[in-house]
Amino acid sequence: MNIILLGSPGAGKGTQATELEAATGMKHIASGDMFRAAVREGTPLGKLAQSYLDKGELVPDDVVIGMVLERVRQPDCENGVIFDGFPRTPQQAEALQAALAEHNDAINAVLLLHVDKDVLIQRVIGRWTCRKCQAVYNTYFRAPKVEGVCDLCEGDLYQRSDDNLETINHRLDVYEAQTSPLIAHYRTQGILHEINGLGDIDDITARMVQAIESAKPC
Ligand code: AMP
Repeated sequence: MNIILLGSPGAGKGTQATELEAATGMKHIASGDMFRAAVREGTPLGKLAQSYLDKGELVPDDVVIGMVLERVRQPDCENGVIFDGFPRTPQQAEALQAALAEHNDAINAVLLLHVDKDVLIQRVIGRWTCRKCQAVYNTYFRAPKVEGVCDLCEGDLYQRSDDNLETINHRLDVYEAQTSPLIAHYRTQGILHEINGLGDIDDITARMVQAIESAKPC
């Protein structure tokens, strides 16, 4: 199976994708994580992506599409992929659909996480990530036991450069303008599942697993 997680910045796509990867054995592919790794490593892709990430703008379609489609051709994606943060435009959705169709493959389900705007903003401005193992914490909802230190590997926690109040408002506008048209696109295809993204992490995961089960091909 291949699934897409759709939802605004801060909707919980990354957190839920990590849980779903463990629960289903599908591979979690996050375009934002790939860009941040490229920025950290100082690669040409990272240098190109940096200014888009800092401003909360989308990286151009051809760059994202090339990067993600190359990644899904790797052997660790053979058991299916959980796409997180991709596609984000109709052009990206079309490119993904065409690439999967070449291998008689398709997207089986699109899970749309609904979260109120005030919660989205708290999730984003309170988010801290481990430099070593990439585990994600939140000052308001899931604080680490020791401030600034990862519970799992004792790595340093950092805040993303785009997780500030000014940039998040712009990222929400970009989502509305460029990504939200995908909701109607996947609804028309009959594969959209709307999920309440509020509440306990495990409860949200359970709702998502139920949607995935209902979408499994016979
Ligand atoms: P995320 O981690 O998904 O919030 O993505 C962080 C940033 O990476 C976005 O604000 C964009 O600048 C860039 N990015 C990630 N995925 C995409 C995508 N599918 N298309 C364009 N830009 C992306």
